[in-house]
Amino acid sequence: MGLPPLDRSTLWPFEDGEPGEFYYQRYAHPTGVAAERALGELDGGEALLFSSGSGATTAVVLALLEPGNTIAVAEGCYYGTPTLFRELERWGLQHVEFDQTGPPPDGVQLVWLEAPSNPFLTMPDFEAAAAHPAPVLVDATAATPIHLRPLEHGADLVLHSATKYLSGHSDVLLGAVVCREPATAERLREFRGRSGIVAAPDPAWLLLRGLKTLEVRMRRQTETATELARRLEAHPAVDVVRYPGFGGLLSFDVTNDATKVETSTSVVTNATSLGGVDSTIEARYRWEGDRVPKNLLRLSVGLEDVEELWADLERALAG
Ligand code: PLP
Repeated sequence: MGLPPLDRSTLWPFEDGEPGEFYYQRYAHPTGVAAERALGELDGGEALLFSSGSGATTAVVLALLEPGNTIAVAEGCYYGTPTLFRELERWGLQHVEFDQTGPPPDGVQLVWLEAPSNPFLTMPDFEAAAAHPAPVLVDATAATPIHLRPLEHGADLVLHSATKYLSGHSDVLLGAVVCREPATAERLREFRGRSGIVAAPDPAWLLLRGLKTLEVRMRRQTETATELARRLEAHPAVDVVRYPGFGGLLSFDVTNDATKVETSTSVVTNATSLGGVDSTIEARYRWEGDRVPKNLLRLSVGLEDVEELWADLERALAG
C-alpha cells in the first residue's frame, strides 16, 4: 500500500566511517531502488533506471559491446535507435537492419528487437532470435510487462522508454533496462555510476506511482485501440491499419493528406510521443522521411471515451 517517501538527497552519512547502501545519489538512491524493484518484479529480472530510454540504449551498447562489434537491429523500429547507433559509428560500433519477423543475421554481437515495433507494429520471431548465439535485447516500450515479458521468451535484456506507458502521464523522461543475468546488471550499474546516465529521484517516484495504474490503463487502452483499429479498417479513407492486437499504439495510412488529418482532430492532440493518458496523433514522415509512408499516421490511444475518439477521428478523416 502507498508509496515510499521521495528522498531527494544527493548524499547520506557514512555508517561507522563506511559508506552504507546509499552514500551518493549517482550510484544509487532509495526511490530509484524502490522503483527498480517494482519494475524488476513485473518483468521477472533485475531492473536498472536511466535518464531516458535513449540513455538506457547508450548505456547498454557502450557498457556491453566493444569497438568493431555489430548490432542487428529490427527494421522499422523506433527511428531514434538506429539514429543513435549511427552516431556511435565513429566509435567503431556497426549496425545492420534486419526483418525481425525472421532470424537475425550471422556475425553480430547483439540482436536488438522491438515488440511491437514503432510505428510498424511488427512482432519479432522470439524463437529465431533466442537460437542466435548473440545476446538478445527486446525494446518492449509499447508492449509493457502487462502484455509481454521478453525474458520468458529467451531474451537477455528488456529495454523500456519508461517515458511512455510505464509512467503513463506524459510528465516523466525515464528509461529502464531489465536484465536476466545479475552479472549483466552489475556491469550496467557500474557503467551507469561512472557515466552518470542516471535517473533522478523525482522521475523514479513518478514511475512508482504510474506502475500502480499500469494494468488498468493498459487494459482500457487495449480495449479502445482494438475497437478503433476495427473501425479504421472499415473506413474508406484508410488504406492500411497496423495493430498487433494488444496495447494502445497503432498506425494507419490515409488516402488523403496525413498532415490535414493530424491537424483536424480536437480530442486527440497533434503531438509526438506515446503511452500517455491523453491520445496523440502524428504523421511520422516529418521525423522519419522515406523510412515510412508519407501518409502514415501514428495514433497513441489514451483513456478517453471510445465514442468520443471515434467521432473525432471520423470528423478529421472526412475533412
Ligand atoms: N524506444 C521506443 C520504442 C520509443 O518509442 C522511444 C521514444 O519514443 C525510445 C525508445 C526512446 O525513449 P526516450 O524518449 O525516453 O529517450
